Amino acid sequence: MHGKGIYLMSPIQDAFPLLQTPKKIFITTHHKPDGDAIGSMLGLYHYLTLKGHTVFPVSPGEIPDFLRWMPGVAHMLNYEEQPKESLAALNEADLIFCLDFNDYGRTKHLESFLAAATQPKILIDHHLFPSPVWDYGMSIPEKSSTCEMVYDFINLCDDNAIINLDMAACLYTGLMTDTGSFKFPITTASVHSMVADLKRRGLDHTRIHEEVYDSWSEGRMRFLGYVLIEKMEVFHKYNSALIALSRKDLNLFKAQNGDTEGLVNYPLSIKGIKFATLITERSDEVKMSFRSKGTFDVNKFAKTYFEGGGHFNASGGRTKTSFTDTIAYFKKILTDNHPK
Ligand code: 5GP
Ligand code: MN
Repeated sequence: MHGKGIYLMSPIQDAFPLLQTPKKIFITTHHKPDGDAIGSMLGLYHYLTLKGHTVFPVSPGEIPDFLRWMPGVAHMLNYEEQPKESLAALNEADLIFCLDFNDYGRTKHLESFLAAATQPKILIDHHLFPSPVWDYGMSIPEKSSTCEMVYDFINLCDDNAIINLDMAACLYTGLMTDTGSFKFPITTASVHSMVADLKRRGLDHTRIHEEVYDSWSEGRMRFLGYVLIEKMEVFHKYNSALIALSRKDLNLFKAQNGDTEGLVNYPLSIKGIKFATLITERSDEVKMSFRSKGTFDVNKFAKTYFEGGGHFNASGGRTKTSFTDTIAYFKKILTDNHPK
């Protein structure tokens, strides 16, 4: 059951007895939730609800527009908008599921409340090196997505037969977004078997692709054009590229939350570019996103230089220094740290 993390929690099967009688269950995920975060949370929400539990899915922050179509979104709480209701749900819960993150810090505002909560905590996650705080769980970095792991969890519970179209749509979303639409090396045969299983149930995958990827505003598309022409720096000798966006850049196009989503991937479509970085100036910090192709370990890079982490080929981090100092620091590091 365990991945590369050194810490050994009890296998998730040991938590099955807790689920034999109806429980109140709090589910949460990471701040700035993506398709895998919301997909896994709502997929599990539908499953546990069908099993007779009372389920409170709580996002630590805003849910991006391209995920608002998802079945069950209306039942979800957003801590930033509904802190009282969210904390009441946490207090009332018998059990806590944590999905698609493995360190309380990734939940931002919920960090201290989760740390203080005394209910049994169950982790389902595929990031490297979980912090040693969960009672039960699955931590498997080799898995494509947390959505795939929720599907595995349902199968382990011997409930494959009750997977319905709501669960299928939610779980397919994270599978699709975390594998780069089934392109990244993490896309195993088990990913395609899962898709086949969901398709046999009537999953409309085209609609989901359109909801997630073809729902841009005109402004977002023009913002992308601006970013690629004006803001992308390519360092061919380092096989690397950088996009750095200041508050001014974001304001110029009135970029909405979510409009920077996926920008970091574009430079990787340039022949020879194997490492792409996006630096975004936020009000409270400078946010870093890293993506790589092949053997350049961006988890290590984020951890070593930018207080972050994630996966081998996709990671994130932050700095508290200024936007311009961060760019200079990044370029300095790049000279010695880049794919060959
Ligand atoms: P993104 O660039 O989309 O924010 O993040 C890419 C991946 O790295 C995601 O899987 C995300 O969970 C992870 N990640 C992003 N920021 C951090 C961070 O500060 N710490 C850790 N441990 N992981 C992060
Ligand atoms: Mn994920």
